Amino acid sequence: MQNKILTLVASDGLAINEILKFFKENLNLNIIQQNQLSEHSTEFYIQDFEDEKYQNLHKELSDKKIDFCLKDESLKNFKILLCDMDATMIANETLDDLVKISGSDFNVDETSKLAMEGKIDLRTTLKTRVEILKGKPKSLIDEVLKGIQFNSGGKTLVQTCNQLGLETNLITGGFKPISSYVGEYFGFKNVISNEFNFDKNDCFTGDYIPITGEKNSKYKYMEKLSKDNKVNFSEMVSVGDGSNDLQMLKHSGLGIGYHAHQIIKDNIKTQIHFTDLTTVLYFLGIKKEQFKD
Ligand SMILES: [Mg+2]
Repeated sequence: MQNKILTLVASDGLAINEILKFFKENLNLNIIQQNQLSEHSTEFYIQDFEDEKYQNLHKELSDKKIDFCLKDESLKNFKILLCDMDATMIANETLDDLVKISGSDFNVDETSKLAMEGKIDLRTTLKTRVEILKGKPKSLIDEVLKGIQFNSGGKTLVQTCNQLGLETNLITGGFKPISSYVGEYFGFKNVISNEFNFDKNDCFTGDYIPITGEKNSKYKYMEKLSKDNKVNFSEMVSVGDGSNDLQMLKHSGLGIGYHAHQIIKDNIKTQIHFTDLTTVLYFLGIKKEQFKD
């Protein structure tokens, strides 16, 4: 049986002695190595982890508001980072913001929520939302950019991965030029997104170039990356929150849900609920002193 690595991250300091006591008395874990990554994070190498202990572990850590990742020891060498944009790297749903700013009374929040929960087809709702923008000025995008809230820890995540030589990708069902602005802020090497079409008067035409707007397009991009870079899926780490991220998260060596919709919580083991995006770095075994701010 392969050794497991269990990484814990808390927003405040970790009460390590209390946690170790629980591991010993309630789970009888065979810990063979312990590395402190920061005052907020520690990783444990565990021998012979029995799957039936998982529920108990999950409950205890959730009750203590600790995010955790349990993965095989072999999953160590990550070469590619893939991040969703809306509601992951930034707090906004930018297409919804754009529709709202345009003055439309379309119930965009509800539609977007249903799409991200996988209850309605994303392509149809993208098309509907973009059609609403027809004839509106391109300058509405500037208003959206002003309202963008960058999620905590995002810049450290991307800059550190860049420094460590990972290929960093912002992959979104959102649109250029919003995605390129966000990509540049964080320092992503690649930005993969849809593109709006504009007419000669700089107004939205109501249609778009659907680069990431197809079914499972994020997963298809992983296949392309794998082929072009000769990298296995097991060497990819991805982060996302919505149904269009599911296949990407499922097939990555490490797929992480970030304050995710139910469909991601139900299908993906590793989740960030309580901490920020730097937790992705801890889950990769990176110490705080290696972080680049
Ligand atoms: Mg999202």
